[in-house]
Amino acid sequence: MGRAATATINLEAFRHNYRLAKSVAPEQQAVAIIKADAYGHGAIKLAFALENEADAFGVACIEEALELREAGIKKPILLLEGFFSEDELPVISDQNFWCAVHSLEQIDIIERSQLHNPINIWLKMDSGMHRLGVQPQDYQLAYDRLRSLPQVNDIVLMSHFASADDFSSPVNAHQINCFNEITRNIEAPVSIANSAATLGHDETRREFQRPGIMLYGATPFAESHPLADQLQSVMTLTSEVIAIRDLQPGEGIGYSHRFVCDQPTKVGTVAMGYADGYPRHAKDGTPVIVNGQRTRIIGRVSMDMLTVDLTHIKDAKVGAKVELWGDQLPAAEVAPYADTIPYTLFTGITRRVHKKYIG
Ligand SMILES: *Cc1c(COP(=O)(O)O)cnc(C)c1O
Repeated sequence: MGRAATATINLEAFRHNYRLAKSVAPEQQAVAIIKADAYGHGAIKLAFALENEADAFGVACIEEALELREAGIKKPILLLEGFFSEDELPVISDQNFWCAVHSLEQIDIIERSQLHNPINIWLKMDSGMHRLGVQPQDYQLAYDRLRSLPQVNDIVLMSHFASADDFSSPVNAHQINCFNEITRNIEAPVSIANSAATLGHDETRREFQRPGIMLYGATPFAESHPLADQLQSVMTLTSEVIAIRDLQPGEGIGYSHRFVCDQPTKVGTVAMGYADGYPRHAKDGTPVIVNGQRTRIIGRVSMDMLTVDLTHIKDAKVGAKVELWGDQLPAAEVAPYADTIPYTLFTGITRRVHKKYIG
């Protein structure tokens, strides 16, 4: 009953991808990054799928961490951006969340806090991303201050890459050298690798990796890569053809008639639009699968529908299955047609889309 637009989430594929992240550094730990509702896949469901295996989970903020705790997740949870306000500290301490610290002001706040249990801190350095983190010249002092505080338990040294998906970027070596130079006299575990670094830069694999996008099966790289090519799609976004018509050369399709037929064309209308999270910017020619055969979007994506070329599709009928991305069509291949990346495709899926969990 109802509209077919569905995101099928494959939990077995999610576990496969986590195991791949672990396999590159089996002696070390991997914090499964499930911020932003597990990149749009459903954080509670995915956390439970990995609760027996994951070393820890990572989220963006305390709201996301509490949602997981309240659902019954017992594993350590890392707050990647730390605390936003002082009143979070007692909760962080009581819930045993791991907490990033990215500024000297945050150290002042911890210093004057009163906590039941000392907290585990991930001290973030701005090694070149220039978004969050203590400046390299202040880092040793920040570490020494935290180390002396009774409110602080373990400290992990942390940084984040700006261009790890780009092997040719000189920024990678610059960030690694900066981080290693500044931390060379500090005895503490290190975490610097996101998905792209975990897969592609073995010198960044340290005590804790922080894989995110790779867990959802999307390669961070533009090119083929021996490890990334083993990832499996977790989300498969599907719908159905709900109407078909035959158009003649010169006839236009959809809003503004962005696409005008240059030959006799069979057009299928699919129940999927930008209000489901499918990108409105998808160009004519964006790949899509109908009945297991590859074809293309023609015409502008509208709120609830989009139109595809069925001219050469066998068995093209109303009710034909349509895959927008997933098992047969990686999201990483679709994203460039909408000038974006798989991260925004996944996080953009809206609540109107049915979610179905398998595996
Ligand atoms: C989101 C995030 C990650 C994961 O990044 P991916 O590119 O998805 O692997 C790792 N570390 C931090 C600090 C993050 O915010």
